Amino acid sequence: MAKKIGRRRRSRLWRVGALVMAVAVGLGAWWLWPTAARRVEALEKVAPPAWIQQDFIPVGKARTGARLADYAGIVIHYVGNPGTTARNNRNYFAMEDTNVCSHFVVGLDGEIVQCLPLWERSAASNQRNRDTISIEVCHPDEGGAFNAATYASLVRLVAWLCDVGRLDTAAVIRHYDVTGKDCPLYYVQNPDAWERLLWDVEAQRADG
Ligand SMILES: [Zn+2]
Repeated sequence: MAKKIGRRRRSRLWRVGALVMAVAVGLGAWWLWPTAARRVEALEKVAPPAWIQQDFIPVGKARTGARLADYAGIVIHYVGNPGTTARNNRNYFAMEDTNVCSHFVVGLDGEIVQCLPLWERSAASNQRNRDTISIEVCHPDEGGAFNAATYASLVRLVAWLCDVGRLDTAAVIRHYDVTGKDCPLYYVQNPDAWERLLWDVEAQRADG
């Protein structure tokens, strides 16, 4: 009888010990690996650099105010409307009947307009709206190649957004990579130019 109780106590101790270990391991994992929610929360604490003009569109059809489920990537688009400015596109997103919007628009003079907070969902990248930040890029002509000023600002912005989320350039994708749509047109038709862009982002990050 005494032996039995002893064994039962020991097994209870083992169980408590195992539970304590599991909790400790769980807490450790929680601290070491940020969860999706914590990655999105972190975006709320980011101070935007001076070269970003924040001009948020009103909450409505395009900007729903919904939070990102995670911050796992950056999606690049082209506006598809040659010669339009960043401001033109931002104002289009702000119109009552528009149901598309992106976090950023990079303009023809290299200006960068932010249309909604980093931690909210844009309406630009289909099934990746839930976990990505989107950038629409202006272009001078139908071909869709970015001019030098626009390109330089885009590289700077993407490098900064990678740093913010501790993402590497593998997380930087084209709208084409989500849906197969020809967007951003020039960088779908010229994969070398796309590779070059990612390389330039890496170089910018290395420079700080
Ligand atoms: Zn697109």
